[in-house]
Amino acid sequence: MDSVDDDARLRRFRLRRREPAQSAVAFLERMQSALVEGPPSGPPRLTANDIRRAHPSATDAEVAALLAHQAGPDSSIRPPTRYEELGVHKSVQLVASRIDEAVVRAGRGRGSDPPLVGLLDVGHLNARTMRMPGDDGHLVLVDRELLQFLFLFGKAVALAVPSGPTAPAGMLGFATKRADVRAHLRQDDEAVRRFLDAVFSYVTTGRASAAEPYRVAPGAQRFSSIVVQAAHTFLLAHEYAHVLEDHVGDGEQSPRWSMNLEGVADTVGLQLTIDVMQRTGHDLYFTYWGAELVLFATETALKAISLLRSGNDVRGMRDDELHQHAAFEARRTMLEFLVRGEMERATGDKDSFERQWQEISEGLHVMRDIVAELWHETEPLLRLAHDQGARPAAVWES
Ligand SMILES: [Zn+2]
Repeated sequence: MDSVDDDARLRRFRLRRREPAQSAVAFLERMQSALVEGPPSGPPRLTANDIRRAHPSATDAEVAALLAHQAGPDSSIRPPTRYEELGVHKSVQLVASRIDEAVVRAGRGRGSDPPLVGLLDVGHLNARTMRMPGDDGHLVLVDRELLQFLFLFGKAVALAVPSGPTAPAGMLGFATKRADVRAHLRQDDEAVRRFLDAVFSYVTTGRASAAEPYRVAPGAQRFSSIVVQAAHTFLLAHEYAHVLEDHVGDGEQSPRWSMNLEGVADTVGLQLTIDVMQRTGHDLYFTYWGAELVLFATETALKAISLLRSGNDVRGMRDDELHQHAAFEARRTMLEFLVRGEMERATGDKDSFERQWQEISEGLHVMRDIVAELWHETEPLLRLAHDQGARPAAVWES
């Protein structure tokens, strides 16, 4: 993280005001106390040392200002409840604050407060939006293990990309042709090992954080951090879209589910994500890869659950999982149409866009191709684990 970004982060955390109503926090805390495993970690506090470690360029005055801000009633640094960890809360707030800004830029910030984002532990392959009782606005619930799974999934994908000699626009000089990826995976098994560890840990324990932590080379690190940023943004922006589009009707707790509403949420969510990513200097490819990462990671988890349950990656799915799987697939198809439309509009010249589409489409499908290669290598190993008695965690069976 360079110092310009660092300053921007500091400012954002200091300036941002996201203080929900007491009753909303109490509602979130009641939910978390029922759903979060284990005792609360206690009121988390950022120390001066934490700030200096995270923001080496911060001056003493800035550190003092942050500490004072943290203690204030309108702090966005302090997690809203004692069931949330400081580190995860902070990174989710950064994503949320960027989306808030994109909502305002899109002229849609009037009328409603931004939703309160609450973190839960385990067991859902999706974020959810609900309306809080009374007039307290909306609550977006995200599982921190899902965020961690997306993070590790993005990292393994980045490891699967060999660094290439050429640098086509927006591609950071990575060789992203499928044949190159395949050759790279044969040469170096780290991507497959890490991918397997992330998927296996998540599916057998419910916790992606049970996977072994590791560092990657700077190139892969940069690729994964951008794609994961896009993935986390898209995951939340989709939920924001349900709020903005008023999908949770009066007297209802959560949106009525329909593919139609999902399509609207993806359209609006994608627009917001494109805006956020452009502001941080990244093109449409990254936005697309990030959105696909969300959909592929969850599909992969469903397939792995099915495989460990039954020995087959589709036939072991329950009805609700089959339904979820089909929805993710449909959303991916739709996403391509949406991005194609965006790109065509940006090009302005329909004919020349048509001519370039083949090449663009290949670039867009990097994520799909990498995940297909990684799954191809991982599936036999999961099958072996199933034969030896490995099964999905209880959290996936309830
Ligand atoms: Zn949705």
